[in-house]
Amino acid sequence: MSLIVFAFAAKDIKSERIDTYHLQNLNLQPMIQISSFAFNPFQENTYVLYDETKECIIIDPGCYTPLEQAELSTFIENENLKPVRLILTHCHIDHILGCKYISDRYKLISETNKNEIPVFEHAERAAAIFGIRLEKPTPPGKFIDEKDVIKFCTSSLEILFTPGHSPGSLCFYNNEQKFVIGGDVLFRGSIGRTDLPGGNFDTLISSIQEKLFSLGDAVTVYPGHGPETTIGYEKANNPFL
Ligand SMILES: [Zn+2]
Repeated sequence: MSLIVFAFAAKDIKSERIDTYHLQNLNLQPMIQISSFAFNPFQENTYVLYDETKECIIIDPGCYTPLEQAELSTFIENENLKPVRLILTHCHIDHILGCKYISDRYKLISETNKNEIPVFEHAERAAAIFGIRLEKPTPPGKFIDEKDVIKFCTSSLEILFTPGHSPGSLCFYNNEQKFVIGGDVLFRGSIGRTDLPGGNFDTLISSIQEKLFSLGDAVTVYPGHGPETTIGYEKANNPFL
């Protein structure tokens, strides 16, 4: 299984190099470091964000096998990180497969949008449909929305409500470093699929155009599957938009 499971298949796109915005290239010290891990049969991107305070947040823990669980916790422990929040862009199974492991190990409750409750409740059936085992995590313990700000370390992330792929999809935006953790809304050369329960194609397109495109071309998108991209690159090349 691959990206295609949770996205429309990418059409032919130019293979030009992405002009990704890297603070390092500007000789600026990034405050937030972003580490990503591609986990589980869906190759879902799990993100760990942290800075020099060593507090970290974990977004969409997809670690599935004991090896993947160990990879994530070994990274956290080798970097001396202290996980302080567990955040979900949405509750499709590939994004929550490691939720129970992370909740138990670091004593964290998961946070997501309230519109994801039915998606979470459907997760066991979805796992059976895809033929994978799901250790059902405890239900999300805190609901977050656009009015909230995710504060951690010395930084913060704005919350964007971007439904369409899933009814409560959220993206997390950092204005200082110009990046967005995008879940399954916008991919390099593709967009999230909309044929799963609660999905809606027109809603997804509106979310991308109104919430993501307005962030500006220089913003780097860290998606739920596949490589990072930029808003500018997708505006110019994404065949779905
Ligand atoms: Zn998804």
